Amino acid sequence: MRIVFIGPPGAGKGTQCKRLVEFLKIPHLSTGEMLRAVKSEDTALSRWVASYIDAGRLAPDHLVMRIVEQRLKQSDCLAGALFDGFPRTMIQAQLLDDHLAENGLKVDMVLELAVVEDVLIDRLLKRAVSEGRLDDNRETIHERMRVYSTQTAPLVEYYAKQGKLAVIDGMQDAEAVFHQIQQRVTQV
Ligand code: AMP
Repeated sequence: MRIVFIGPPGAGKGTQCKRLVEFLKIPHLSTGEMLRAVKSEDTALSRWVASYIDAGRLAPDHLVMRIVEQRLKQSDCLAGALFDGFPRTMIQAQLLDDHLAENGLKVDMVLELAVVEDVLIDRLLKRAVSEGRLDDNRETIHERMRVYSTQTAPLVEYYAKQGKLAVIDGMQDAEAVFHQIQQRVTQV
């Protein structure tokens, strides 16, 4: 099964994705983690990637797609994949659909984790302290929220039109949120 997990920064995607991949036994493809891995090297590419991440802006679509395509070639992805933080733009969504279609595959389900903005900002500021993430400062958080609502939120409509969208109430505690997710994915 191929699942896309959509949600604003701080919605709790990371936590829920970890539980979901264990439950479904599919690999977790987090483009944020992949890009942070590139950023941690000491190359011209890593400095270029850092300039996007540290400013809270999206990395270029073609670069992200190239990284995802490489990852999808690995054999564990034959069982399916949980896409976390990808696609994040309409272009990425279309490139993913095209890439999967070329291989006779498709996105089976899209989970949208919905949380109100004030709660998100509070959670992200706490994460800045606990995980030391440079992109979790107040200014960058606002930029990431703006990027989410302008570039990523339209995907919700795109997948809803395809009849693939399940909206999950992310305001509850992690256990209750996961229970909702389990119910939705076992219906597919
Ligand atoms: P995340 O860990 O998913 O919050 O991603 C952290 C940062 O990585 C984002 O703010 C972007 O700068 C970059 N990033 C992650 N996924 C993508 C993507 N699909 N497209 C473009 N940039 C991305």
